[in-house]
Amino acid sequence: MKKKYKIKKKVLYSGLIFIGIIFIAIFLSLKIYNNYKYKQSYEYKLIEHGYTLEQAKELEKNSKEKDLNQILKLSRNENIITFLKEKYYITNNLERYLNYQDKNKDTSTKDIVAIVNVNRDFDYYKHDIDSDISKNELLLVNKYYKLKEDFEPINLVNISNKYAYQNNQVISIVNDAFVSMWNAANENGYKLIINSSYRSYKSQDDVYNNLKASKGEKNADKQAARPGYSEHQTGLAIDVFEINNQLTSTFKDSEAYTWLKNNAYLYGFIERYPEDKENITGYAFESWHYRYVGIEVAKIIHDEDITYDEYYAYYIENQANN
Ligand SMILES: [Zn+2]
Repeated sequence: MKKKYKIKKKVLYSGLIFIGIIFIAIFLSLKIYNNYKYKQSYEYKLIEHGYTLEQAKELEKNSKEKDLNQILKLSRNENIITFLKEKYYITNNLERYLNYQDKNKDTSTKDIVAIVNVNRDFDYYKHDIDSDISKNELLLVNKYYKLKEDFEPINLVNISNKYAYQNNQVISIVNDAFVSMWNAANENGYKLIINSSYRSYKSQDDVYNNLKASKGEKNADKQAARPGYSEHQTGLAIDVFEINNQLTSTFKDSEAYTWLKNNAYLYGFIERYPEDKENITGYAFESWHYRYVGIEVAKIIHDEDITYDEYYAYYIENQANN
């Protein structure tokens, strides 16, 4: 009887030990698993990369997975956190933001983002990209985005003499939008007049090369776009004045200009080369040059006070890549 009881006790003990071992094993493997999981996390990887726990948390909070992978590829740099918080930050440009900052320590991160997004970290005419003509009225042409010699817009129409000097042409939707804008301006007492619009590659080539021959390349580049790089080749750009204010030197001081600046977007036009944006657009202030982009896009550009070059980089190209 006693012996049987002893055996039972033994079985009970070994059973308990066995259960204990199982528990310890589960506990340890959970610990190992959690540790393994943590090592896979971005927080761990960022700390291993040299960031503090606080910085790692901040980086994670402000980034998408794509951003974090990009950050881990670059050497440790605390300034990345400031760039990530910029509204128009583009992941693919991060390395270029940092390189630009290295060489331009006094430029703000906001300005660096704008400059790099529009390729201004490359020299004009030294970083050619083919304009994507499938974008239609949203296509971009500047000193980096170039149209081919044989590009001609479709649906070009002659602009009536009521609104323009002779031999002016734009795409038909631009013509319609301009007529609406002309009528609204007229109701406010301003008689708008277009003095330049569509220019073929050939005519831009003539303008530019005549300037180059008489004044040299540097001066020619200041006054005219090189052929293929002119927005006038798109049929979407117009040079507009008011019948009583037709000088490039003084149009900016006219009431008609103020009216255009505040109202053009309602008709789908934007001021393409605004004051103090030369480093972004590549052009000195042109109070007379307007570009059609459609009402929806013109409103965003107007409300956010950005240039078309910045809009295109962030809202069109970057979002197509995401
Ligand atoms: Zn123009």
